[in-house]
Amino acid sequence: MHTKRVHSFSFYSMPKAKVSDILGIINKIAPPALAENWDNVGLQVGDPTHEVVRMMVALDPGPQAVDAALESSCQLLLTHHPLIFKPLKRISTNDGTGRVIHRAISGGLSIIAAHTNYDTVSDGVNDLLAAALGITGCKPLKTVKSEELLKLAVFVPVTHQEQLMKVLLPFSGMPGNYAECSFRVSGQGTFRPLDGAAPFIGSVGQLESVEELRFEIVVKKSELQAALKALHKAHPYEEPAYDIIPLLNEGVCEGIGRVGTLENPVVLKSFAATVKERLGLTSLRIVGDTGQLISRVALCGGSGASLLRDAVREGADLFLTGDIKYHDARESQDLGIALLDAGHFATERLMIQGLSARLEKEFAKRKLDVEVLRCSAELDPFDVI
Ligand SMILES: [Zn+2]
Repeated sequence: MHTKRVHSFSFYSMPKAKVSDILGIINKIAPPALAENWDNVGLQVGDPTHEVVRMMVALDPGPQAVDAALESSCQLLLTHHPLIFKPLKRISTNDGTGRVIHRAISGGLSIIAAHTNYDTVSDGVNDLLAAALGITGCKPLKTVKSEELLKLAVFVPVTHQEQLMKVLLPFSGMPGNYAECSFRVSGQGTFRPLDGAAPFIGSVGQLESVEELRFEIVVKKSELQAALKALHKAHPYEEPAYDIIPLLNEGVCEGIGRVGTLENPVVLKSFAATVKERLGLTSLRIVGDTGQLISRVALCGGSGASLLRDAVREGADLFLTGDIKYHDARESQDLGIALLDAGHFATERLMIQGLSARLEKEFAKRKLDVEVLRCSAELDPFDVI
């Protein structure tokens, strides 16, 4: 009887997710610092303290997605494109944005945007697009941020190496698919505590010699302060000895667009057919010789024509994006690079499935009971007749 009561109590006290909790998770997946300056990502409308048991992921914060979210009893709508770009002078149902804001607030629906931060981040829109089209070995087409790396070398008595490693290894930030990388070498450390010292080992005035380890990790500059705080907490010495060494090694590069290679080069006509099929298109626009061989592919979901010259610089045979204008097409002919315009909608819509699946994983990890719905109510505004 007693056990039953405790069990039911713990069930009802399970933490509920709030809008702010989910925003925190989204910010981890797609850090707002990666967004372009002109962008407006994060919470657009809503109450951060509201509970969320069901949410929807969509491309646009338009009436289709907002209606679909409210009809499905969602408390949160996560979209790629932001609802609010420019400061608003009024919120009126006389215009599109005002109607959406009014409808969302009336229905208790919060709206969050993950836009250029989700384009840029690893495993975001552009990596999803590259994966869908079989393009591998991708790197950013244009770097916007490269993380500076430092080496942190700590001297610790051998008796305390494990407790120090436990707190410092999570900060090890080498690029690539390896975590908790470190190096250790043993030696003798010496010191003479002076008047006023409270030494962990030895006594004031006497030269001490201690068996120590030099323990090294590579840390991201942005995480150095947190690592030093952890170091001071875990290190037994009153004055821990450590070196912070700048490195010229390249850190993880974040950037817009991607460039990679096709495992098997194919002619442009055949690659265009693959793009149509994988992105669910009935048509797309091509610039270039349909018989030319395509091996290296540059891409940018949405509206990426401004990256055309970056694609040429990276040696791409083809650049795939949306919203290509007449003069972009002419320029690509001059530059000798093929173009595929697969449309803004189709090159970004795959974020709905990608981001939903990622959120489901994050919620499961945190034991948060939030249902994630994929919006299927949106259609490409362009039709081909
Ligand atoms: Zn877009």
